[in-house]
Formats: sequence, structure tokens, C-alpha cells
Amino acid sequence: MRIVLAACFVSLAMPVSAQVVRVGDLNTTQIRALDRSKTVVLLTGGMLEEHGPYLPAGTDAILSSQLALEVAQTIVAKKPGWTVLAFPQIPFGSAGSNEIGGQFSFPGTYTVRPSTLRAVFMDLASELGDQGFRWIMVVHVHGAPPHIRAIDDAGDFFHDTYGGRMINLWDLVPVISGWGNAMVSAMTDAEKKEDGASLHGGMDEHSLMLHLNPQLVSPGYKTAPAVTGPTTAESFTEAKKPGWPGYLGSPRLASAALGEKIWKAFSAAASDQTLKILDGADPSAIPRYADILEKSPLYQRDWIGPAKAHDEALEAKEREWLRRKRQ
Ligand SMILES: [Zn+2]
Repeated sequence: MRIVLAACFVSLAMPVSAQVVRVGDLNTTQIRALDRSKTVVLLTGGMLEEHGPYLPAGTDAILSSQLALEVAQTIVAKKPGWTVLAFPQIPFGSAGSNEIGGQFSFPGTYTVRPSTLRAVFMDLASELGDQGFRWIMVVHVHGAPPHIRAIDDAGDFFHDTYGGRMINLWDLVPVISGWGNAMVSAMTDAEKKEDGASLHGGMDEHSLMLHLNPQLVSPGYKTAPAVTGPTTAESFTEAKKPGWPGYLGSPRLASAALGEKIWKAFSAAASDQTLKILDGADPSAIPRYADILEKSPLYQRDWIGPAKAHDEALEAKEREWLRRKRQ
């Protein structure tokens, strides 16, 4: 599946009307020739984030690159004459889910601060806006509130400054609902009870990886204990306990079949929203996931607030070192 899709990345030199091209393969003449009104820049994010003992740290990056390929395929299939200009994967994100329990250092999580992430996407937005690009889709399958807000800010900056669209697909509620609804509708009541408020690395993510990249799933998931709570607040409490394994949910319930169901619904929702926006739908009318999370007192108290304090302390440490070095 992945190899077939990857083969769709063809050279701009090939005489095809609808195409996906890698920006790094193009020269200045080819980039200048791109019709800005029919070119979608595709920015794929990555993430190194612990997902517990059974899933790889690159889980979100693997999901992101696969989703980007499928969104790109949809664009060129449904929008004849359009080009997808694919950027190399940006391999870092912000706010690993280990922050839920206040454990800011965790093997597998290697993040950058949200302000750093925001700067990367804002700088790229400026470069692309200055060169006349109008459409930017960001695929970054990681749901931490500070992370999605940082990318959203870059998109709003691009819109306000250049008038184009820069869309953080994961933050659109109809996209994330594609995942959530497929998951809920496929689970039995007993499974829902056992998986609880799974939030991170639970039945769903293990299932997705069993579907997309099973060789990277450690077989230990089959006997993994459920680590979760019946509510989000109680799951947050689990993550604060010493020895928390890094996931919330019940990995042992995972299956490739469930992963395929969730993936197809999620990918279809992402492609559907992309096409609607390219066809003129107003993205400001689409509810955003970050708005929902930021309104939650629980998320503010247990995640967003402590993460902000941690990030500010980290920034102060780095700045102080630089100040002393330059004295
Ligand atoms: Zn994940």
C-alpha cells in the first residue's frame, strides 16, 4: 500500500496534468512555472513522541506521512490540472502526551517548544506567501493543544497576511471526528468500558499501526494491562502515577481490522474537507479542535498551564546560556 502510493510522486518533467511533485526535486524554472491558483503546498509534520512499550516513537509521523499521501492522491484525482507540491516531512512537533502526567522527560519524546514550531510554520508561510502560493495544507497527526494551536496560528497568519489558505487538517473537528466516530461505532460496550478515556496510545492507535505498519508493533500489546479511567480526568490521574507506562487505554483490544475501519474513515474525512476548502468552503466556519480543548478547565489545569510554565523555563534557560556566552 505504502509503496504503491509512494509511486504516485512523479517528476514535474513528466507530461501529466494532475501530479504530485516533491519540491526538493524541482529547479527554479519549474517552481516559477507552477500555477499558483492550482498548486497545493503539502506540509507534512512528524513527531517523536513516546507511545508506550509497544508502539514506536514515530507513530504520529507514520500516520502523518500516510495521510499526506492519501490527501495528495485525492487532490490530483479529483482536481484535474492541479499540482500538489510536497515538502519533506518536518520531523518535530510539540507537547508529547507524557506532559499530561507532568512527566516532561520521557524516552521516545523529543519535542520542540510550541513557539519554535510556530516559528517554523510561520517562516514557511512567509516564504510561500512571498512567492505567491495560495493553498497550503498541513498534515500533522498529533493532538496536543499547544501543538495544534501553534500550527493554527501559522495558518491564521498566512491568511491574514497573504490572503491564502493554510489549513491544519487535524484541527478541523469534522476530520478528527472521522477517526472518533469510526472508533466508537466499531467498539462493543465492553471494549469501550475497558479502553476508557483512552486519549493516547490506546486501542485505536495500536489498531491503526497494526493496519498500517504492523512490523513496528511489539507483540507484547496482546497482554498489556488496561491503563485508563472512565473519564478524561481519571485518565489524566493515571498518567501522573509513578511508573505510568506511557499509554492510556487498552492496547490488547487492538486489531488490524479496527485500524483499517478507523483509518479509512479518518482519511476520507481529511480528503473530504480538503476538497471542500479547495472548492471554496470558508474554513473559518469549520469548528476547531484546539478551541474545544482550550475551553476545558481540566486541560488548562493539567496540561496547557504546566506545559506553558515548563516551556517558558526551558526558553529562559537557553536564553540565559546564550546571554552569558556572548557577554
Ligand atoms: Zn499518537
